[in-house]
Amino acid sequence: MKESEKAETKENNQKSSQNVLESTQTVVHKALGKLGYPEEVYELMKEPLRMMTVRIPVRMDNGSIKIFTGYRAQHNDAVGPTKGGVRFHPDVSETEVKALSIWMSLKAGIVDLPYGGGKGGIVCDPREMSFPEIERLSRGYVRAISQIVGPTKDIPAPDVFTNSQIMAWMMDEYSRMKEFDSPGFITGKPLVLGGSHGRESATAKGVTICIREAAKKKGINLEGARIVIQGFGNAGSFLAKFMYDAGAKVVGISDVYGGLHDPEGLDIDYLLDRRDSFGTVSKLFKDTISNEELLELDCDILVPAAIENQITEQNVDRIKANIIVEAANGPTTIEATKQLSERGVLLVPDVLASAGGVTVSYFEWVQNNQGFYWEEEEVEKRLEKVMVTAFDNVYRVSSTRKVDMRLAAYMVGVRKMAEASRFRGWI
Ligand code: GLU
Repeated sequence: MKESEKAETKENNQKSSQNVLESTQTVVHKALGKLGYPEEVYELMKEPLRMMTVRIPVRMDNGSIKIFTGYRAQHNDAVGPTKGGVRFHPDVSETEVKALSIWMSLKAGIVDLPYGGGKGGIVCDPREMSFPEIERLSRGYVRAISQIVGPTKDIPAPDVFTNSQIMAWMMDEYSRMKEFDSPGFITGKPLVLGGSHGRESATAKGVTICIREAAKKKGINLEGARIVIQGFGNAGSFLAKFMYDAGAKVVGISDVYGGLHDPEGLDIDYLLDRRDSFGTVSKLFKDTISNEELLELDCDILVPAAIENQITEQNVDRIKANIIVEAANGPTTIEATKQLSERGVLLVPDVLASAGGVTVSYFEWVQNNQGFYWEEEEVEKRLEKVMVTAFDNVYRVSSTRKVDMRLAAYMVGVRKMAEASRFRGWI
């Protein structure tokens, strides 16, 4: 990419994270208003309580030193310690991390966990780094933020382009620094280091439960239902497999490079087999469609499981699905949400649909604190209960208060945080 193109991409990314933060704030404001909270509650919640920026020097394999920028945002810890993932991505920005930390607070509120929201990120491209470089960066990040994180303060987890190996390095670094074993410092760890059964597929399981519940409301039989999934990363790929195994027809999937489409249903087992660790598979095929075309395919259920701002004013008219379940963070703009809701499309918002990951992270943390580990069935049973209750709560608020599902989810999500802040005497 030329320097001018790079600068333009950076500017667009900054604009897009600014939009994401602003639209999150707008909906939080509306939700608090609907619940009758005074303006100062919004003033407290519109930004994270704490935001740390760090610069991390890393020795690269060629001997040079590169300085990386990282962030950790802690949105609100009235309910309990803050919790949320760390993403490694070239587009990470302070604004994005702020917005994501607010989302984590909302998610924790919706699934009723004893947490507030946090989020971290490092501006880097792990696809262009070696494993030893990624390890040094991960350890450096933990050293840099060590004063503000910890098992009862702020608990990181995986997010975009971070995985259980990175969590293991981070946990090891933290335990070494503090000189005691601290599995509860971070979640999403490998099983042998205190990870939980079911954590890796938890986000997709949560999305699957939301799809099933939404399909019931719309009278759609999942068997034979046509599903399109944008994104083939952790959430998208597990989800494709769960849907395929449940007898649904996955008629489209995509990755950053493009999409695959087959009206008769794609062979998901084959695609999973060919997928690389960054979730790309479309490069292996000649006959591909663009991500824009994918979103507009004829289908019953559409699951954006990739990045922000995918369904916008520009393409919302051409979206054909009856149900949209947001597995990604922020894939639909406010304006598009409004139009979809007017058209009667059932939209299950990100803060509800993608809350399965943090729910099983909470189970992992509980197991670490107890030193007693659960079987997979236990995790699944508890996740099922949490997600169904959350879906029902949001759906009920949406019907009784006559608001769209996103606003309903925000109303459910902010309530406990506002009450806890009030009891603590903050507002
Ligand atoms: N990064 C995931 C999310 O955005 C998981 C966070 C966690 O497990 O704490 O929900």
